[in-house]
Amino acid sequence: METDRTTLPTKRPLRWRSLHAEAVETLREMIIGGELAPGARLVEAELCALFAISRTPLREALRVLEVEGLVTFYPNRGAVVSTISPEEVVQQFEVLANLERIALELAMARMKAADLGRLNRMHNRMMDLYGKGQRRECFQKDYDIHNRIVALSGNAVLQDIHAGLMSRSRRVRYFALHSKSRWSEAMAEHVAFIQAINDRDAARASTLMRDHVLRTGTLVGEFVSGRSDASPDMLSRADPAAE
Ligand SMILES: [Zn+2]
Repeated sequence: METDRTTLPTKRPLRWRSLHAEAVETLREMIIGGELAPGARLVEAELCALFAISRTPLREALRVLEVEGLVTFYPNRGAVVSTISPEEVVQQFEVLANLERIALELAMARMKAADLGRLNRMHNRMMDLYGKGQRRECFQKDYDIHNRIVALSGNAVLQDIHAGLMSRSRRVRYFALHSKSRWSEAMAEHVAFIQAINDRDAARASTLMRDHVLRTGTLVGEFVSGRSDASPDMLSRADPAAE
C-alpha cells in the first residue's frame, strides 16, 4: 500500500519547523555569543518557558546543536553546553593567525584605494562602538574586519579554510572580549595594524595581524582553562558540577 502524501497536513509541520528553526538560531547565538558558557546546563523546562515552546521542538533544536558540536548530552544530566579544550583553542588560533598574516600580505598587494577606504571606515566604526562600550556590536565589527581582510586577499582557497576555522572559533573568540583589559588591548592592536596598512608597510602590518590573532588565542586558551579575568557574570552561568 502506498501512502498518499498529499493528504498530510501542511500547516502544522510548517509552524513546528519555524519554531524549531527559531529555537536553533536563538540557542546557537546564545552559545556562540557566550551568553551560555561551556559546561552550562541546558534545563529543558527553563528553555521551554524562555522560548514559550513545547519540549519536542526544543529537543530537536538541541539535537541539531549537538551535531554542530555546541551541545553535549550526558546520561542522567541531560544537555550541557559543550566544553572546549585549551589545546584545541591554541591550535585553532595558531592556524588562524598565520592564515590572516598571509591574507593581509596578499590583500595589501591587491587592494584598491576604495577597498582601503572601506576598511578604514569599518575600523572607525568599530572604534566608535568601543568608545560607546558596545561590546557585542564592537565584537561583530572586529569579526567583520578580519573577514573583510581575508576576502581582500582574493584567494578563495584561503578564504574557504579561514571561514571554516572562524565558525569553529567564533564562540570562543567572544570570551576574549569578556576581559576588559583584553578588549582595550585588542583595539590598540587594530589601531596599529590599520596604521601599518595605511603606511603601505606589508611586512609590519602582517606581523602585527599575526600577533593580534595569536594574542587573542592565548587569552581565549587561558579563559578556557580557567586562568583568566573573565567577567564573573559569565562564569556564574556555568554549571558548577560540570568538569
Ligand atoms: Zn581583531
